[in-house]
Amino acid sequence: MNEVAELDLSRITPDEERQILSRLLRDDFDAWADQAVRVGHCAHPIRLTGEQHTVEAVTGSVASTFASASLPDEVLYVRCNNRRASWCPSCSSTYQADMWHLLKAGVAGGDKGVPETVSSHPMVFATLTAPSFGAVHASKKPGSKSLRCRPRTRGEVCRHGKSLSCMDIHAEHDPVAGEPFCADCYDYEAHVIWQWWAPELWRRFTIALPRLIAKCLGVTQKQARRLVRVSFAKVAEYQVRGVVHFHAIRRLAGPPIDENLYPAPLVEVDSTWLGDLTRDAVTSVEFQPPQVSHAAPGALLRFGTQVEARPVHRRAGRDDLSGAIHPETVAAYIAKYSTKSATDLDPGARPTKRHLARIRSTVFRLSELADHTYPPGLPELPNPYWLLGKWAHMLGFRGHFASKSRRYSTTLGRLRSARRRFERAKAFSPDGVVDVAALDRELVDDDTTLVINHWRFVGTGWITAGDAVLAAEASAKTREYDASKRAHGMP
Ligand SMILES: [Zn+2]
Ligand SMILES: [Zn+2]
Ligand SMILES: [Zn+2]
Repeated sequence: MNEVAELDLSRITPDEERQILSRLLRDDFDAWADQAVRVGHCAHPIRLTGEQHTVEAVTGSVASTFASASLPDEVLYVRCNNRRASWCPSCSSTYQADMWHLLKAGVAGGDKGVPETVSSHPMVFATLTAPSFGAVHASKKPGSKSLRCRPRTRGEVCRHGKSLSCMDIHAEHDPVAGEPFCADCYDYEAHVIWQWWAPELWRRFTIALPRLIAKCLGVTQKQARRLVRVSFAKVAEYQVRGVVHFHAIRRLAGPPIDENLYPAPLVEVDSTWLGDLTRDAVTSVEFQPPQVSHAAPGALLRFGTQVEARPVHRRAGRDDLSGAIHPETVAAYIAKYSTKSATDLDPGARPTKRHLARIRSTVFRLSELADHTYPPGLPELPNPYWLLGKWAHMLGFRGHFASKSRRYSTTLGRLRSARRRFERAKAFSPDGVVDVAALDRELVDDDTTLVINHWRFVGTGWITAGDAVLAAEASAKTREYDASKRAHGMP
């Protein structure tokens, strides 16, 4: 295995070295290495024992059996599928690629069982932000014309005497970006309460839009669903100020007709119309949160007033003056953000990110206050902030980072099972050639065979630290290789 020959094993402990050597010298090393490749050199794979039977649905006969007993160490490894790059670089990059595929399938079609016609349906790319909780230093946004952070000629100051003006140009990773001008003016409580209820605001938005569409068409919601349906995909992303915003794709389709799951809407509507309604729906959303305590009553929650809703279509160029955006740009943009997490905002807890530390301490303080307000043992008064403290590492955000409606495109689960089939097909194909088109067709449910699993969870992670080093090194090499392939324009 030439991969192993190139590994950098200079920083390992004597124990790990011994474990690596014994692994390399074992007769079943190739089988172990194949397993490691199959899970993409996942950093924390799940260990299972048991077997899998594939049964013909019609006859009930067992077509094949696969058991962990035949594998090295008698365990089957499965990917951890964690989307966070800081936890598993390999699964995170796979997640990002999968996310890109399914988002792209939804906006552009022609892939994963979604027809190309969807790209001609009315579609918008919307960004829903939080309101302001106090002025913060802003980094220069890619493509934006205004460079200076917060130019104020009249030397505005806050009531604590701090300047509210900044003539600097902050690069994207400038540690000052996102920091408030005055931490005493910044409303940390409102920030945390908004973040905690952001999933509720999002939910209300997903209800408001179809309602508004029906109203605009002058019909009931039930009638409207016979004409036009909204499907969506969204990702949540942290802004540098430590609050999430949502990127959302909204696409209109007609109700499914027989085999066609993605027909055009049955009314004459376009992306501009959908964009206007999306903006109206976002600004209409509000939610009165339950009190944290008498000390923190909580104001009415809304989205920020700056709502972007850009039409998406194939004719859009790079700098479309109408603000329209190309489908593939949207998919790539969203996928890029789908693996970020709160830990990426503040790697290594540097003291420069005092702001994030203060958000976290506010999370803990409000969680304690809520525990006093909603005493345990009263089921009729559940504590709505019960788990707030548990989400401190996410700065109080408990929602999904990526989600989509059923009809948007294919699912991550289907992509994963297609990958497993691809890996199996590759292992059994003598020349390593696989019919990808056939596998793509399989993304539509296969109900001719049943797969019966008898798996037992044994643990997570590689059996020895030495195995983990081997997997991590091979994983880094694979990603390096993939990156250089991409840089040279190879598939
Ligand atoms: Zn993993
Ligand atoms: Zn600044
Ligand atoms: Zn102040």
